[in-house]
Amino acid sequence: MTALAQRTGAINLGQGFPDTDGPQVVLEAARSAILAGANQYPPGLGVPVLREAIARHQHRFHGITVDPDREVLVTTGATEALAATLLALVRPGDEVVTLDPTYDAYTALIALAGGRHVRVPLAPPDFRLPLDRLATAVTDRTAVILVNNPHNPTGTVLTQAELAAIVAAAEQHDAIVVVDEVYEHLVFDGVRHTTIAAIPGAAERSVTISSAGKTFSLTGWKIGWLVAPQPLRDAVLTVKQYLTFATGAPLQPAIAEGLDQPDALFVGVRDRLQHGRDLLAAGLARAGFAFAPAPATYFQAVDAAPLGVADAARLARELPEQVGVVGIPLSAFAAPEHADLYRSWLRFAFCKRDTVLQEASDRLARLAMRD
Ligand SMILES: *Cc1c(COP(=O)(O)O)cnc(C)c1O
Repeated sequence: MTALAQRTGAINLGQGFPDTDGPQVVLEAARSAILAGANQYPPGLGVPVLREAIARHQHRFHGITVDPDREVLVTTGATEALAATLLALVRPGDEVVTLDPTYDAYTALIALAGGRHVRVPLAPPDFRLPLDRLATAVTDRTAVILVNNPHNPTGTVLTQAELAAIVAAAEQHDAIVVVDEVYEHLVFDGVRHTTIAAIPGAAERSVTISSAGKTFSLTGWKIGWLVAPQPLRDAVLTVKQYLTFATGAPLQPAIAEGLDQPDALFVGVRDRLQHGRDLLAAGLARAGFAFAPAPATYFQAVDAAPLGVADAARLARELPEQVGVVGIPLSAFAAPEHADLYRSWLRFAFCKRDTVLQEASDRLARLAMRD
């Protein structure tokens, strides 16, 4: 879709990366760290200032107490945290349960680990978790339940009841819960995001993964982390040792600086993004798509069925030529047996500048005048 955007000059709302830089204070901190000589291998666990800032962050935003020396690991983006965790915890033939539509890296990483991928489809149009399907999907063969909350690509935020059901299933079948929370700060309209470790029974059997990329609009830095009980943390560290060994030395103290910024910075990031979502939503509504405003993430999922579109993948291929905007069909993230559920759905990214979103919104609105 990115190639199609380039060829047609369409606005690319396919891929989720921001078109502005992160906070100046964080950029400056990285520059200072480079000039101060933070340029050789840092410790494999991550530099102490960042691990301590991660522990303070978990306490400030989630009320969770973690030991920065025993329960935190800095990784090369959330992606390495996911890869090392799955490689550490999944033996060939073990099952990994995810929510469909599934973030594409999960599918590939489960395969790399030799795991069997079992998917529970979130039910459109509100993408709630069907608890009965979860209960049958998790069995004694399940090594890991891997979910992202908030959820890309649907924008859903799991409720406490849904999280509790996931933890209960994991307890019953002795599985580990891995939760990817890279969108933890990008939650709108007063919706509450609950970190997995705040659910009773979860702390001792969960790995919480996050990253600076989405929160600080620094997706190219690839600074991520995980929080887990020491035995789990150490198992993942053993794998990380032979994946990257260590992660971007001068970027780590800069992200520590970012995580210690006042609440106003995090609120500002969230509010700007919510405004971007609303700009785009206006055009999507005028075009005739059906959707509820995304409660979180970088993404708005929309149903094209009211436009008379049965196959959103086809619409996605036509949109760049027709109106000059690129989106991605949700079915691209789903198992073949679930693709029909999402057949008429598309995903658009709204992590772009106002001028870009306004133009995309105006262009999409023209869909209503088609035919
Ligand atoms: C963007 C994204 C990631 C990747 O995070 P990095 O820190 O860039 O590796 C992981 N999970 C989800 C759900 C994402 O959307």
